Amino acid sequence: MEFQEHARCTTCGADHGNAFMPPIGDLDQYGHALAEPFGSTLFQFVRCTKCATVYLQDPVMQSEIHRYYEGEYHCYKSYAERGVVFRLLSRLLLRSKLNFIRRHMPSSSKRILDYGCGSGTWLEMIKNAQTGYELVGTDIVPEQIARVRELGIEAHVTREDGLAAAVPAGSVGLVHMFHVIEHIPDPIEALRKIAQILPPGGVIFGQTPNFASWDRALFGRYWSQWHAPRHLTIYTPDSLRQQAIKAGLEVLEIRNSAVSATNWANSLLKAWTISRKRPYQPGTGMAYPALTLAFLPLTLLQSLVSRTSSIDFIFRKAV
Ligand SMILES: [Zn+2]
Repeated sequence: MEFQEHARCTTCGADHGNAFMPPIGDLDQYGHALAEPFGSTLFQFVRCTKCATVYLQDPVMQSEIHRYYEGEYHCYKSYAERGVVFRLLSRLLLRSKLNFIRRHMPSSSKRILDYGCGSGTWLEMIKNAQTGYELVGTDIVPEQIARVRELGIEAHVTREDGLAAAVPAGSVGLVHMFHVIEHIPDPIEALRKIAQILPPGGVIFGQTPNFASWDRALFGRYWSQWHAPRHLTIYTPDSLRQQAIKAGLEVLEIRNSAVSATNWANSLLKAWTISRKRPYQPGTGMAYPALTLAFLPLTLLQSLVSRTSSIDFIFRKAV
């Protein structure tokens, strides 16, 4: 297809991917039907036979990928718009996030960059918590950056290539990148570029879906975290660690996240909705908040004895 290009393994560069599941289409309809041929195109996730990284073999060219982000991509929606359960969950997550930031932020810095900040949901929450941190956001979508600036927060439209021009080297103590790394065509190079704006001891704090999780194995093609063709690498703790090390970073921690309860809820709703031949839109439906609550105990068990389907990672630039 003329709008797709062949990709190699995003960790080791090998070109030996093993198709472990049938190709899947864009099952996550964000309230709009894509024009053809984009709407009906199928995408193949493969597992590298050399290093076991799971990646999208024939991704959409970056010049055409915006088609899949038009409409209402759910991460652009603030928690306040999602009802009482998510307001409570987001408050708990914010508290845990701020505790973490206080622990790992180098004492020489007070500046946090939200890389891939969307409409500024987290930046606004951190700002409202009156922590005294200086905040800056970057994203590739100009409309989202305009919204962040309306909140009175410094923000720049840039990819990793333009980051050094927008943010001075060594000026940011912590880069927050939640659900971003899986969208980047060359994540190792991006991590290297992001590390350039950190001082020695500065950290990258991120979250990404985890292939090595019970719910991925259980739900198969209906698992909520494929997001083909937007997600290009579906990480495991091991492939995440390999990429960080190749980028010259120290891996401080890869940990489970309670937010994974939303992945269980979304996967169940996705399987149910698509099997009834109805269009599925992530993060919607009357049952979604209640299902998320119902899956919290299972997610807790999963986090104690295994790995959850969203994992947090903490990488550090060497001192
Ligand atoms: Zn590989």
